[in-house]
Amino acid sequence: MILYQYRCTGCGHSFEALNNIHERDTAVCPVCAHLAEQQIAGGHFSLPGTDTAFPTAADKWAKRHRRANRDNLIDLGLPVD
Ligand SMILES: [Zn+2]
Repeated sequence: MILYQYRCTGCGHSFEALNNIHERDTAVCPVCAHLAEQQIAGGHFSLPGTDTAFPTAADKWAKRHRRANRDNLIDLGLPVD
């Protein structure tokens, strides 16, 4: 069972409901019992890592760039990790 987002075709009510992946296209509206269609969610996104307000993403970004620049850091005599 996966949580899906639905919008009622009768009253426009939006709601979330658990549904089987094979029956995810439609659900019954809890307000008016009309047919509701699945809504497409916002999808996956990743933070750029340059905003320090998100420390985990910022650490991941820094680690990835240090790893990519490892040879340059060694050439410059700077510490590597
Ligand atoms: Zn409805």
